[in-house]
Amino acid sequence: MVTLQKALWGIILVVLVTCPYHTQARIGTFWHVTDFHYDVNYTTTGDSQNMCWDHRVDNTSPGKFGDYGCDTPLELVTAAIQAMVKIQPKPDFILWTGDDTAHVADKYFTTTKVVNIIHELTDKLNRSFPNTTFFPVLGNHDYYPKNQVPVGESDLQGEVAKLWKKWLTDEAHESFQKDGRYWTDVPGTNVTIIGLNTLTWYKSNTNTAKLPDTDPNGQDPGQQFAWANNILTILAKRRRRVYLMGHIPPGTFERYQQKKEGFHWYQTRYNDQFIKMVQNHAEVIEAQFFAHHHTDSFRLFFKNQQDHDPGIPVSYQLIAPGVTPWRSTLSKETGANNPGIRLISYDTVTGKVKEVSTYYLDLAQANKDGKADFKFEYNFTSEYNLTSINPESLYNLAKNMKKNSTLFNKYYKANTVSLESPSVCTTNCHLLHWCSITEVNYNRFNTCNAASITSLHWAAGSLLAVGLLLVNR
Ligand SMILES: [Zn+2]
Ligand SMILES: [Zn+2]
Repeated sequence: MVTLQKALWGIILVVLVTCPYHTQARIGTFWHVTDFHYDVNYTTTGDSQNMCWDHRVDNTSPGKFGDYGCDTPLELVTAAIQAMVKIQPKPDFILWTGDDTAHVADKYFTTTKVVNIIHELTDKLNRSFPNTTFFPVLGNHDYYPKNQVPVGESDLQGEVAKLWKKWLTDEAHESFQKDGRYWTDVPGTNVTIIGLNTLTWYKSNTNTAKLPDTDPNGQDPGQQFAWANNILTILAKRRRRVYLMGHIPPGTFERYQQKKEGFHWYQTRYNDQFIKMVQNHAEVIEAQFFAHHHTDSFRLFFKNQQDHDPGIPVSYQLIAPGVTPWRSTLSKETGANNPGIRLISYDTVTGKVKEVSTYYLDLAQANKDGKADFKFEYNFTSEYNLTSINPESLYNLAKNMKKNSTLFNKYYKANTVSLESPSVCTTNCHLLHWCSITEVNYNRFNTCNAASITSLHWAAGSLLAVGLLLVNR
């Protein structure tokens, strides 16, 4: 009898230890902030054409908190961080997805200057959230020369690893130092974060772009896909809920209208592998958090996509707005945005995202008023009338947005963080957003985006686009 009792207790103990749901369920919060693009040269005095790095200031007197033609001045960095502290000073953690330096020609920068800017932002964030763990990754502007992040180790990555050591476990720190990526469990929750190094997948990164598929670093730079696929398999066995996080998203930019094939960032081979990775591990990936666009959008991943059959939605990615208001140089319509910050609430046991709340600064108004109060912009569920946030509900939202212009207009307003009026978005623009959201695969995007657009229009657009392709997002 005693032996039987012992055996029963043993079974109970094993169940308790292996069951992931022994974590106490609660609704937690985390911030997702990104693309500060801190312009240390910004000034409101002097030559009006030389008040920020970009030299495209909109006003003859650029405002205290910035300009839509410039990157983020110190006053705006401070206002954004102060707003975070005011709105939620004690989040469970903070995702910080890179692009810390201004859009600056390489000739003005050095590795030391880039590290110093990352250092300054790290200190500011750390001072404001001394007891909160940040999970950061680097952006394509967080390297010198920009975009050219090598595969594996680098001096810059090593220096930044030292700055971020306090936030990362020893294992995650070592992984970041070596490869610019890591995975880490969020303590007290069932959530595990995988911070990806998306920079080696960038088509503007010549370190990998020039490598053939026969080169191991051409096929899978730093073996990151092999690494991520392996970690995802392990995490599925551990019944963890994964948040994929990175700077550059896969798929096509939702605002570039100059060519029917749109504009994308990843090299095609890595875009394809990313989609495959998500499809293969959709069960364990709860949500994805990306950046780089500076705009507010989302992406859907499907399984079993064939021809015109969209398949079943299996994963979603939220693209967070940036702090910088900087107007993209990619093309006229890609435009500027108001500064945005994003608070997410989630279930600590299931990992499910319960709400996505975006706060923003009306930059023009703030400059007029002389004070920068970040205001609540919208809640994802109430704005779009959703009862939950998951791949199916977001696919339904996308489909409803396609046919319902009132709903689409809400999304479009949020896309530039309440800067542009939805009235500027034509039929082609509307279709472009639908195709970007639902077709992450480049070929499928092309087919989708060509559907109702005359080739003449795109031919004219392509001519206009010549010479505009110096990517700087
Ligand atoms: Zn950026
Ligand atoms: Zn970027």
